Amino acid sequence: MSGQGESGAILTLNAGSSSIKLAIFDVAEDGALKARRRGELREDGAGQRFRLKDAQGGLLADEAWAETRFEASLDHLLARIDAELAGRHLAGIGHRVVHGGAGHRMPEEVTPELLELLGDLAELAPLHVPHNLAPIREIARTRPGIRQVVCFDTAFHRTMPAVATRFALPREFERRGIRRYGFHGLSYEYVSRRLAMLSPRVHGGRVIAAHLGNGASMCALKGGESLDTTMGFTALDGLVMGTRCGALDPGALLHLMRWEGLSIDDTERLLYTRAGLLGLSGISNDMRVLLESAEPVAAEAVDVFVHRIVREAGALASVLGGLDGFVFTAGIGENAPEIRERVCERLGWLGVRLDRAANADGAPVISTPDSGVEVRVIATDEEAMIAEHVRDLPIA
Ligand code: ADP
Repeated sequence: MSGQGESGAILTLNAGSSSIKLAIFDVAEDGALKARRRGELREDGAGQRFRLKDAQGGLLADEAWAETRFEASLDHLLARIDAELAGRHLAGIGHRVVHGGAGHRMPEEVTPELLELLGDLAELAPLHVPHNLAPIREIARTRPGIRQVVCFDTAFHRTMPAVATRFALPREFERRGIRRYGFHGLSYEYVSRRLAMLSPRVHGGRVIAAHLGNGASMCALKGGESLDTTMGFTALDGLVMGTRCGALDPGALLHLMRWEGLSIDDTERLLYTRAGLLGLSGISNDMRVLLESAEPVAAEAVDVFVHRIVREAGALASVLGGLDGFVFTAGIGENAPEIRERVCERLGWLGVRLDRAANADGAPVISTPDSGVEVRVIATDEEAMIAEHVRDLPIA
C-alpha cells in the first residue's frame, strides 16, 4: 500500500490463444478505479513480445522475451507486474473466461472445485476456455495467496428469455447444454453501464449495441439487459468477423464434410481462421486494410459485413418491438465512420437520422437531434468491467 490515498490495485488478465492482455487498475479509497497500465504479451516468432503502456497510452516497454514455456513467460509477466505495482497491495486478479456454460452466470471467486468444474466446460469452447484457464491454474499453484475472480463472457446474457436461447432441436440436447449463450458480455455490460450514465432515458428503453471488432456481435438491450444477441452456442454465429464466418447454413457444413472431404479439424480451421473478411476478400481480416484497398473483392467483403449487420439489426429491432438507441463499439465501431454511416443510412426506416459531420468527427452522439433513434459511439473497456467485478464481488 502506498501512502498516497491508494488502497490497492487490481490486475486483469485476458488470456487468448496467442496473447495475454493485461491491465492494472488503482483502487482509490472510495473504490474508484483508474487504469494505470495496459499491456500485452504476444507470441512473436520463437519467443514472446511484451508491450506496456501508461494510462495515456504512452509506450513504457516494448521487449522481446526469450521464454517459450508458458509457465516461464507467465512467471516473468507476474514479476514485471509486481514491479509495476510499485508497492501497492494487489487486491485480486480478474480473468475473462469466454464460456461459463449454463451454470456459471455471475463472476465467481476461484476455488479448486470451481477450476475443476470449468475444466469440464472447456469442451463448449475448446479454442478459448483452455487458454483462459491456463494462467488461473498456474497462479493458483505458484501464488496461492492471491485472490482470483473469473468473469464469464456469457454471463451478461443470463437475462435472455428461453425462447431466445433455444435451438429447434430435440429437447434432450438442450439438457446437455446445446443452446444459445451469447458472448461479448463484458463489453455489453460495460456499454450498458456507460449508457445508463450518459443517456438514462435511452438506456431504459430499447437499444441495439454493436460490438464490431475482430470478433463481432450485436445485442438487443431492453432496460439495459440482454434480450437477444447474434452469437449463439459459440462465438462463430451471427455477423461476419475478421476470420470467422458468422451465421452459416448448417447444411453447408454437412456438404463440406460429406462432399468436399473436410475433416472436423479442417472445418474448424476454416470457420474460425480462414473465413469472414479474410476469406471473402482473400486480402486481410483487418477492416482498415480493406477500406483502403482499391480491389473490388475488398469492397465486396465490406458489403457483406454491412449487409449482415443491417439484416441482424432488423431482426433485433423486431425482437425489441422498436428502437430508441443504437450504440457502436469496439475497433471498427469506434474507429470506422464509413461503416457507421453505411449502417445508419440503411436503418433510416427505423427512424435513424445520422449527423454526418458528427460521425466523421467521431463525436459521442452521431444522430441528429430529430432522429427517432439516438446513435452513440461508446468506447468499450472489458478490462474495466472485469476490475469492477473483482472490486464488487464480496470476499469469500
Ligand atoms: P479485438 O476483437 O481483437 O479486440 P478490436 O476491437 O481491436 O479487435 O478491433 C479490431 C478491428 O478494428 C480491425 O478490423 C481493425 O481494422 C479495426 N479498426 C481499428 N481502427 C480502425 C480504423 N481507424 N478504421 C477502420 N477500422 C479500424
